Amino acid sequence: MKYTPAKPPLTGETLDTLTARLREAGEPAFRAKQILDWLYKKRVRTWDEMTNLSKPLRTWLADTFELMPASLVFNKQSEDVTDKLLLELGDKSLIETVIIRVPQEGVGPEHSRKTICISTQVGCAMACAFCASGLAGLKRDLSAGEIVAQLLQVCYREDARTPRARMELASFDNIVVMGMGEPLANYDATLLALTIVNAEWGLGVGARRITLSTSGLVPKILKLADEPLGFRLAISLHGATDEVREKIMPVNKAYPLAKLIPAIEQFTEKHGRMVTLEFILIEDVNDSIDQAGELRDIARDLHAHVNLIPYNTVAGLPWKRPSNNRQERFADVLRAARVPVTLRREKGHDIDAACGQLRLKTEQDRGQLVAPPVAQSA
Ligand code: SF4
Repeated sequence: MKYTPAKPPLTGETLDTLTARLREAGEPAFRAKQILDWLYKKRVRTWDEMTNLSKPLRTWLADTFELMPASLVFNKQSEDVTDKLLLELGDKSLIETVIIRVPQEGVGPEHSRKTICISTQVGCAMACAFCASGLAGLKRDLSAGEIVAQLLQVCYREDARTPRARMELASFDNIVVMGMGEPLANYDATLLALTIVNAEWGLGVGARRITLSTSGLVPKILKLADEPLGFRLAISLHGATDEVREKIMPVNKAYPLAKLIPAIEQFTEKHGRMVTLEFILIEDVNDSIDQAGELRDIARDLHAHVNLIPYNTVAGLPWKRPSNNRQERFADVLRAARVPVTLRREKGHDIDAACGQLRLKTEQDRGQLVAPPVAQSA
């Protein structure tokens, strides 16, 4: 389903496209930079706050663009340091954006490093067996403006909590495109959004601080390898052999490891950046020593970093999180081969932090969706 809003969001405009629109309206080109400064640097929430613009220009802007295409429904904070924002779009679709705080030694929690996990689709078509986002399938792609809007909403929230040291800075440190949806299945909008986020006239977030995650869409990985902006890449692997991967990730049928691994190699060669392999540990599915050995070999050949994520168990469902001992035993196989590995203790365990869960629950509560019980996501 495609959604065309009555007015396009201002957050989907680049400096060039906004300049062109303003010229058509008889306004000088420099106004575009002023408007984007109000949006991304000063982060005003109304047109009337753009005080160096004339009243007729503000009226034209209000008639032409939506200032903010995503509104905050609620914010759910976990007992640890993770926040989940549930946002509503113009067509009432719900999306999730997560703020993951990493406390820094010697400073208060307000100075935590913040990584923001953003969504790129409403739902997801990839149908990974462990993921809540894919349970009800794909509803629609997000527009570039809707993707960017998630980050502005995070800035609004964080600016209110901690005054910015420098007004022009984004209120977070890193972005991971790992929320709801397969970003490379919504390639053009995602790349446009990240270009806006990266731009000096936008949020000014460096490409190295942005990680795109994919379930393994090989042609799009190859296309991404040719992009000039050097975003980081993470692969949701979750199975180190075709047999195991195929059980939980249908994408593996179209793009098995024999196709996926060379595509990752090509990306690494072109960008010279270490790729991350994401691996959710699910008891008796992919947490055997054999799988650890296969994963070690893949990671070593690719010079990749491995991120192990213990499965987030949900009562009433068959999937289980392996014991800490089993997790450590798995990680030790990688460590012994000096493969860089992080064993992530999942943040936000108590707030349905895995992507898609909060949206599904809320849609069920609202009667918008009849979905199976909430499962796990990446
Ligand atoms: S894990 Fe990612 S790609 Fe797979 S269904 Fe969930 S959102 Fe889609």
